[in-house]
Amino acid sequence: SAHAEKKDTYIIGTDITFAPFEFSDSDGNYVGIDMELLERIAEINHVTFDIKPVGFNSAVQAVEAGQMDGVMAGMTITEERQKSFTFSEPYFQSGIQMAVAEKDTDITSYDDLKGKTVAAKTGTESAEFIDKNKEKYGYKIKLYDTADVMYSVLSAGNVDAIFDDYPVIGYAVKQGQPLKLVGDYEKGGSYGFGVKKGQNPELLEMFNKGLAELKASGEYQTILDKYISAPA
Ligand code: GLN
Repeated sequence: SAHAEKKDTYIIGTDITFAPFEFSDSDGNYVGIDMELLERIAEINHVTFDIKPVGFNSAVQAVEAGQMDGVMAGMTITEERQKSFTFSEPYFQSGIQMAVAEKDTDITSYDDLKGKTVAAKTGTESAEFIDKNKEKYGYKIKLYDTADVMYSVLSAGNVDAIFDDYPVIGYAVKQGQPLKLVGDYEKGGSYGFGVKKGQNPELLEMFNKGLAELKASGEYQTILDKYISAPA
């Protein structure tokens, strides 16, 4: 039959710093919404996920190259990516937003970006967005592999604005990072767990089954609420 045999261990690539979805806590444990969902989904399916925090773009490329089995990294399900990936059921609705340094008073909208330098992370929806709008607003682009570097060059004044997923910037602001959100967020797609197109169908099936169980039991919401405070 076409039914692929289940492996004991799957290698899952993820981002390095993408709080509250994946990040190291103060004890050096790798935690976050994506990590807790994976942990429970592994338990439900009696399988082991070997987590590799290699960075977003590297995780995407490793799965495309068949070197890893799946990406769990706040990866937005897009039509373009569906050419090379098969995605799970969506598990989180997101979008991207601009942020500037906390002390910045110049930039209050995209129209203030003329002659400025705008950054995003390599291979992300934000990178695609700033590339698409570059001519329109007349800014230069810098790309970074990790969020911590991108956020620190912003506070150091080496770039003028950054784009990242709004729940991630929102979390950074709440954690006291010296940046602030500007304007409304761009409505984006949903996050999905991705495998190489046509590969590891049983892994995708396990993910979807686990996610459905976690949603039904309320655990999914508990995990979300632990990292993102519910609106008042
Ligand atoms: N959601 C964004 C994307 O898919 C960013 C993901 C990330 O940086 N980990 O491009």
